[in-house]
Amino acid sequence: MRLLDRGDQLRKELDLARAAGRTVGLVPTMGALHEGHVSLVRRSVAECDVTAVTVFVNPLQFGPSEDLGSYPADLASDVAVATSAGAGFLFAPAVDEMYPGGGPGVTVHVAGVDVLEGASRPGHFDGVATVVAKLFNLTGPGRAYFGEKDWQQLEVVRRLATDLSFPVEVVACPTVRETDGLACSSRNARLSPAERSAAPVLYRALSTAAIAMAAGECNPAVARRLMVNIVAKEPLATLDYAEVLPDRLLVAARFGTVRLIDNIHIEKTEI
Ligand code: AMP
Repeated sequence: MRLLDRGDQLRKELDLARAAGRTVGLVPTMGALHEGHVSLVRRSVAECDVTAVTVFVNPLQFGPSEDLGSYPADLASDVAVATSAGAGFLFAPAVDEMYPGGGPGVTVHVAGVDVLEGASRPGHFDGVATVVAKLFNLTGPGRAYFGEKDWQQLEVVRRLATDLSFPVEVVACPTVRETDGLACSSRNARLSPAERSAAPVLYRALSTAAIAMAAGECNPAVARRLMVNIVAKEPLATLDYAEVLPDRLLVAARFGTVRLIDNIHIEKTEI
């Protein structure tokens, strides 16, 4: 596994691989790699000849009052995790390498994302789309791997690939959870022990509502209320949103200064 911090080096290596007929898989991350990331890397390693993992905490996708400064970072551990998962390259650029001269003059704007994360985090998805477009151009992947855990982000990336005609297959990977149901997240490391014990309430809320809907509850307002009530019973959780889409339930909540999101698919029974 090779650790690179320059985009031109990475591009050169992957150009060589493609010229030799090898397929490239891309796994973009913000580092502090955990089992969720590992599942994406393993899937890419299984399906592509060369896997490039990127670790970049993208300032463009953080709002001024968000946790950019305290986002967990551990490059030595990321190198070890990416190596043991079978990655060929780990690209960990400095901010100046990705955005020379203080920031991009050209960005990607994503329309129609003023709900859910887009409502709570204005500008977030423009930042995500801009960095993902850059990573697609730097690495030229045949496939790129994203987690369902960040459901709306996955939809945005699919839209980015379609609307800007990137020749990449966006591969969705299922959410990896801890044994108590909490979705793996780099931010979990910042929870206090009490907050960590409280955080599985999100998955409990999602599961309870999903089970009710699978059992025939058709009213989204009732399902939403179930989730709201369950999260409300946990004193360490402050709900940001709980939403019901046609086939998916989504929640976001704060535990102290840490904001967590989660979602699950609704299995509806045919009547
Ligand atoms: P992040 O480092 O949080 O930006 O995540 C990088 C990629 O890993 C994104 O595509 C995420 O959706 C995905 N990911 C993060 N957590 C999980 C998880 N628990 N299960 C599966 N994928 C995940």
